[in-house]
Amino acid sequence: MPECIFCSIIAKKIPADIIYEDDDVVVFKDIKPSAPIHWLIVPKKHTQTPADTDAQTLGLMAKIGARVTNDNGIDEKGYKLVINVGKGGGQIVNHIHMHVLAGFKTEPSHEGR
Ligand code: 5GP
Ligand code: ZN
Repeated sequence: MPECIFCSIIAKKIPADIIYEDDDVVVFKDIKPSAPIHWLIVPKKHTQTPADTDAQTLGLMAKIGARVTNDNGIDEKGYKLVINVGKGGGQIVNHIHMHVLAGFKTEPSHEGR
């Protein structure tokens, strides 16, 4: 079975542009960004979807999202936290992760809401 790409990044077997790391998670820049700021929050324990991931880890990813956006001064403008689940949800890497997407121009239709 081919090794999981995110487990390889966590093990430092392949490089990534890491912006945050602690005992439980690593956050690195997406190799193919689909927003001006595109980071991936990746728990160190390999699970695949929210179904096999414990609630604490699921919550931790959102809290780390709040932390790294605050640390980098982008929290006030706002950002998206996204988990793609399964093939139909656009999940390509089968190691659970949360996308941090930011740096969008404000949509006029969203102003003042
Ligand atoms: P998914 O579609 O599974 O939710 O998102 C996987 C993301 O991982 C994609 O946005 C893809 O660009 C990113 N990705 C895939 N392989 C690598 C890699 O080797 N390094 C980094 N930094 N990102 C990767
Ligand atoms: Zn993995």
